[in-house]
Amino acid sequence: MKYACPHCGEKVFTPLQKALCGSLRSRGKPCPHCGKRCCNGMGSIYFSAAVSGIAFAAVIAVYLFATEKLYSSLIIVGIIVLSLVLMFVYDMFFGKLVEPIRTR
Ligand SMILES: [Zn+2]
Repeated sequence: MKYACPHCGEKVFTPLQKALCGSLRSRGKPCPHCGKRCCNGMGSIYFSAAVSGIAFAAVIAVYLFATEKLYSSLIIVGIIVLSLVLMFVYDMFFGKLVEPIRTR
């Protein structure tokens, strides 16, 4: 399964390469076929905003309600790692590649 480049239309990006292209906020990665830069579109930004919002709320909740400090910091680390993994998986399998807004 590969993803198409928004410039030349060739299906050259593997899910891992697609995830590593970053979001519209980044410069993107060059297409192996035409060399123009590609990045993940707005869906990726909305998804990561939603996930980080939920993760932030969960971290606050754990911080407020946990009685065992060591245990709660482990849970907080777990929530942050989980949210990063979710964003990465979204970029791998969902959304599509677009042209970056930032060109340099
Ligand atoms: Zn291309």
